[in-house]
Amino acid sequence: MKDIRALQDFLQSPKKIVITTHANPDADALGSSLGLYHFLKRKGHEVNAIVPNSYPDFLEWMPGNSSVINYEKSNSKATELIRDAELLFCLDYSGFGRIKGMKDVAQQASAKIALVDHHLNPEIKPDFNFWNDKSAATAELIYDLIINFSGKDEIDVNIAECLYAGIMTDTGSFKHPSTTSKIHRIVADLIDLGANVNKVSRLIYDTNSLERLRFLGHALAERLKVDESSRVAYFVIGEEDFKDFKLKQGDTEGLVNYALSIKGIAVAAIIIQKDNEIKLSFRSIGDFAVNKFAEEYFSGGGHKNASGGMSELSLEETEKKFKELIDKDILKTRIK
Ligand code: 5GP
Ligand code: MN
Repeated sequence: MKDIRALQDFLQSPKKIVITTHANPDADALGSSLGLYHFLKRKGHEVNAIVPNSYPDFLEWMPGNSSVINYEKSNSKATELIRDAELLFCLDYSGFGRIKGMKDVAQQASAKIALVDHHLNPEIKPDFNFWNDKSAATAELIYDLIINFSGKDEIDVNIAECLYAGIMTDTGSFKHPSTTSKIHRIVADLIDLGANVNKVSRLIYDTNSLERLRFLGHALAERLKVDESSRVAYFVIGEEDFKDFKLKQGDTEGLVNYALSIKGIAVAAIIIQKDNEIKLSFRSIGDFAVNKFAEEYFSGGGHKNASGGMSELSLEETEKKFKELIDKDILKTRIK
């Protein structure tokens, strides 16, 4: 509450505010950014939401989408806004390494920093701190922030749907262990405030292209590897799959969960090669902390049961490294 009061004091007069979120923004990153954007604009501030790079088109329905600035596409404008900002919000990330090309300009900014995030081991030292690793989503923290700042009346249908999208996706549609009774109460409020849950769910989950569905079949049939003895299942997706199935950004999202849905599997991964970059996503059930694994071996991080990282090796070498490490680490952890 101390930081809310300090933020309220700071925002008594109109300020230049920039909202930032992590690279490859997901629904929580964008929904939190736009929920906060609408709230602060209504309070009379000059607000801009900047993303480090593009996001999948199934997020473009979000109210405020057309005013989001993409740092990669509007580099000089975004740089100027960050340099001139008096307050910089860091949403859904807590280390500047997660905002790609924006890192230097954000780090050098003279603005005060407000951190709103739920990832472990925050590196950023904020002036206003709304970090809580117990939160299911950054959108939950934004909801709390708005409620404590001004009360429920400030949440209109646009804010409600942006925040609902973040909570729905980050809880895996209310299935992950982070799904508390508090989350359900927040969501009940968001529905009362106008969020149409069926609309949001369909806009995010039911906008598959036929190519994406065909790719899903291909990935399950040809790209999924299962090691029952170590209880690991993982996909390896190479650049040719992106070409063959005309895959777009976001088309591989959620795939890793199919590997984790296999009975008896405790750790799942996906290794993706795209544009000469190798990105990994990890998921686990129970004790195996994939954030530590990602941090130690793949320059990444995240949550205990959901994390990601990257690799500078080739696709084959990355797979080999992953397999060797996971066998070793799993033996150490003895997953239940
Ligand atoms: P996803 O696999 O859905 O991309 O990410 C799962 C979780 O891991 C998210 O909470 C995300 O923030 C985190 N994560 C994904 N990639 C990275 C990364 O490269 N570095 C760090 N620190 N976290 C990541
Ligand atoms: Mn999140």
